Amino acid sequence: WLCGVLAPPELQEKTLVLVKPDAVQRRLVGNVIQRFERRGFKLVAMKLLQADQGLLDKHYQQLRQKPFYPALLAYMTSGPLVAMVWEGYNVVRSTRAMVGDTDSAAAAAGTIRGDFSMHVSRNVVHASDSVETARREIGFWFQRDELVAWESGDQDYTYGP
Ligand code: UDP
Repeated sequence: WLCGVLAPPELQEKTLVLVKPDAVQRRLVGNVIQRFERRGFKLVAMKLLQADQGLLDKHYQQLRQKPFYPALLAYMTSGPLVAMVWEGYNVVRSTRAMVGDTDSAAAAAGTIRGDFSMHVSRNVVHASDSVETARREIGFWFQRDELVAWESGDQDYTYGP
């Protein structure tokens, strides 16, 4: 069975995606997951949780002084969210492109925000903005043993030999 051929390092780039509380309430979780699956990325961790302020203060440490931070905190703690780690070639940059502009009103049609969101304050998803940020953010949201390394049966058809 598991013949143990590890994917090369460039196929193992990882990013954190959060399906935010508005998207859970609006039953968009499946749709968001489907987009990343269909593209060919590999899901390596996922959980539904209620985030607390401590976790969000770490996750959004760059934004804590912003005037919108209290509202962002209220939004992100308003209900459960889904945290996921996706893996694959160029996943950080590709995922940001699939998510679209932070300001939903400016997000291109076809992106997640451009298709499902009207306003920056309820913009459906988070995706890490660099490989380094992703590494840090994954550490805030997941224990090391919650990430599952698995061999993808369609790797040759997704990436070529
Ligand atoms: N945000 C907001 N108002 C703003 C800017 C940002 O409510 O004027 C929220 C929004 O949910 C956004 C999050 O803060 O997704 C993080 O902002 P960032 O600039 O990091 O954008 P992102 O990386 O999520 O596109």
